[in-house]
Amino acid sequence: MDTIVARPGDGAAVLTADLLITHAWIVTMDDQRRIYRDGGLAIAGDRIIAVGPSDMVEQAVVAREVIDGRDRFVVTPGFVNGHVHITGEPITRGVVPDDTDWRTNVFDWLIPTYMVQTPQEEAVSATFAALEMLRTGTTCFVEAGTILDLGAVTDALAATGIRGRLGQWVQDRAFAPDEDQAALTTAAIARLEGQMARYPATGDPLLAAWPCLVGHNTATDDLWREATALARETGTGVTAHMSADPADPDYYLATTGRRPIAHLADLGVLGGHLSLTHAIFLDGEEAGMIAASGTTITHCPMTAMKGAYGASAAGLFPEMAAAGVNIQFGTDGNNNGNSADMMRAMFATAGLFKDARRDASLFPATRVLEMATINGARGAQLGHAIGSLEPGKRADFVLHDRNRPEWRPLLNVVNQLVYSADGRGVHSVWVDGRRVVDNYRSTLIDEEKLYAEVEAAGAAVLARAGMKVPSLWPVS
Ligand SMILES: [Zn+2]
Repeated sequence: MDTIVARPGDGAAVLTADLLITHAWIVTMDDQRRIYRDGGLAIAGDRIIAVGPSDMVEQAVVAREVIDGRDRFVVTPGFVNGHVHITGEPITRGVVPDDTDWRTNVFDWLIPTYMVQTPQEEAVSATFAALEMLRTGTTCFVEAGTILDLGAVTDALAATGIRGRLGQWVQDRAFAPDEDQAALTTAAIARLEGQMARYPATGDPLLAAWPCLVGHNTATDDLWREATALARETGTGVTAHMSADPADPDYYLATTGRRPIAHLADLGVLGGHLSLTHAIFLDGEEAGMIAASGTTITHCPMTAMKGAYGASAAGLFPEMAAAGVNIQFGTDGNNNGNSADMMRAMFATAGLFKDARRDASLFPATRVLEMATINGARGAQLGHAIGSLEPGKRADFVLHDRNRPEWRPLLNVVNQLVYSADGRGVHSVWVDGRRVVDNYRSTLIDEEKLYAEVEAAGAAVLARAGMKVPSLWPVS
């Protein structure tokens, strides 16, 4: 790395950059999907100020620091994870069996571990989740809402440098006859409003609150409408689980006479602010409503595979993609998916539907890379700020290390990104112009200390929940 104060013959230079990356492969994800084999990228403060052929960018800027990417780096935008549970599951990774159905996983394994966490354990888990995301190239995430102590988690995340949207999710449906429906709804709305006031999204800060709903059948029509109004007022989004299995359509048909998406359309709560996670058991009419409304769908391939959800067998993802639906990725829980690596989600999706439908045209590498970048940015309500490498956007980007077998030779950068590489080849990462991963290490997190805390927190949570790690084979 060189430090350049002045460049010979730089009289024409008009921009001062904090950092210039030269001679790298750059996958911009701009409107034309331009790729530069010998590209340059310059940033100043929290912004990208120039992208293009390396010689042109070099002429346009004077940089304080230069990284020569020749034969070393592939640059992509940071990935955006549209649905992830950052507390509980990261510190109990692997404990949920892979031969039990998802209801057993959720009710017998996940919820009991969530409920016994201390704020300190949640903070450790959130830090650990951020580390895993950053180290595998994810620079922005939307949390699902399974957070007990939002203050402890937000403080922990602020120390990692990651970008995120989060909240403590709510539900309000009175399932028992003695529950006070009006009081439940009032309390849920008050909680959402309190979170939004505490962590406002105005000005695109790194961390902000969203109105998060559990989803499925747990929210009343009033709560759906209020969460939607809050999102529209504040420029944030609503995230909710829906139709991961046929239970949601069955419930809505029985209680409203309409399928879930049709019911949400009747309420006026579909739209570009909304991300629905899983969305596997939709019919064609519902898929059409998703497309027409601009609603984002969050596809969680690793969860679907481990939990036998049926995404590739029953989901209308190819049809929704063809209809222009904004489909993004979530890695969901570490226990169901067991990885927060978005590059694994890309690889899985590039293969799942080709195989299930015996149609090699489905979800090409280019499509899944869009899902992990620009589609995710749009889902996070940050399409104006992140998701591509263009002047004016926030400097969220990743250097993939070419000095690894999967990047030699480099002949088709997008194919190799999806089919050959994974997050373990991420060398360095910037978020908002700040280098948060440098040469495979977090610049802000003490990784060894964190690993010790994660081991202790995971053991403590499992002990408190009364759980033993299952194994089909004898472990002594
Ligand atoms: Zn989830």
